[in-house]
Amino acid sequence: MPAIRTWLKRPLACFTANALDARGGLVIHGNRIEELLAPGQRPAQPCDQVFDAREHVLLPGLINTHHHFYQTLTRAWAPVINQPLFPWLQQLYPVWARLTPQQLHLACQVALAELLRSGCTTAADHHYLFPTGLEEAIDVQVDAVRGLGLRAMLSRGSMSLGEADGGLPPQHTVQSAEAILRDSERLVGRYHERGAGAQVQIALAPCSPFSVTREIMQASAEMAERLDLRLHTHLAETLDEEAFCLQRFGLRTVDYLASVGWLGPRTWLAHGIHFNPDEIARLGAAGTGICHCPSSNMRLASGICPTQDLEAAGAPVGLGVDGSASNDASNLILETRQALYLQRLRYGAAAITPERALGWATRGSARLLGRDDIGQLAPGLQADLALFKLDDLRYSGSHDPIGALLLCGADRADRVMVGGQWRLVDGEIPGLDLAGLIADHRQAASALMRAG
Ligand code: ZN
Repeated sequence: MPAIRTWLKRPLACFTANALDARGGLVIHGNRIEELLAPGQRPAQPCDQVFDAREHVLLPGLINTHHHFYQTLTRAWAPVINQPLFPWLQQLYPVWARLTPQQLHLACQVALAELLRSGCTTAADHHYLFPTGLEEAIDVQVDAVRGLGLRAMLSRGSMSLGEADGGLPPQHTVQSAEAILRDSERLVGRYHERGAGAQVQIALAPCSPFSVTREIMQASAEMAERLDLRLHTHLAETLDEEAFCLQRFGLRTVDYLASVGWLGPRTWLAHGIHFNPDEIARLGAAGTGICHCPSSNMRLASGICPTQDLEAAGAPVGLGVDGSASNDASNLILETRQALYLQRLRYGAAAITPERALGWATRGSARLLGRDDIGQLAPGLQADLALFKLDDLRYSGSHDPIGALLLCGADRADRVMVGGQWRLVDGEIPGLDLAGLIADHRQAASALMRAG
């Protein structure tokens, strides 16, 4: 069947990387963007379909680079609402260790649906819980991703340093290095797609300095090099973590990262808050990416990521909502607003514009995932788009359409396209029984707590 050509005609506004005026619209051919049209310009080729976009603001599909989908089952849980990272984790680990495959599947569907409705087209997840019975957690995630039609970078997380050996997680939540590496290689062989348009990719993601051994960090770096994969972990999130690294390894976090072979362009780090100027320079020189997670960092009172210094040094910066036990939403357009405001507190209003924050959520995030086929509206790139309408009460009286999305608090896209396919239409996900999903997910969340 020949590829369909569609003209998204004359949008209200278009967010293009170089501020190119594309108010004539976009031409989509098959799964790619074929043309960007100036105001008044018409498509070069006849189109099979015309979509009137006059009420829509067009963005590249937003890209989320850090999450823990399973945590949607433990949102706003009273015992940890007012806790910082370490006690928050220590209370939650035993709950999470009871997770079943069915519960995980529901949690993934909820997180992905929520992301999709917020304009997200590619989602990275960091899953590091593989208790008995949940050894095939990533397979469960792949199934949920395929069901909803987003792209995903599923990070095969791991924990190998339990309490008995001086780590933070309970012993029954950790796996042996051998089991972790064997499963990682299996997943890469089975699911990892390469090249433009990939839907599912696998990354290697030991959880954090306080939950894994040096050996698994080194072995993951070697496997990533051998199989050409991305590396992901939490780093420099809190001062507790820094103290742990100094005490256990005699190293600050970035020295530790370098010592295990991770200071390079394959790596992207969640949080990246507590760096000194020398460390920022080294991260930039290495091209190591940082995923900024503003809501989580505010909720756990972890600190503020030095985004502008990192970018000035050469480190790519992207955005992540982080897990739903510390956000507790999975809404990427609202997270972009949080990034705008939190970073203004650090760097001032003039430096941090809505366009800069949207740049983190799109092409910045794409760089963290090592992708040059998504994250921008440009000819030849994948047709991954988020369309927002400004017809809600909250936008009434607004003037600049791109600014209005963040300043007026957009929280829901009207339409989302992934690889030329509409995955959100009039704010709804075709084929998904949302009410049924919410009912099942709420029940699973209660069951998880009751099982303790
Ligand atoms: Zn996280």
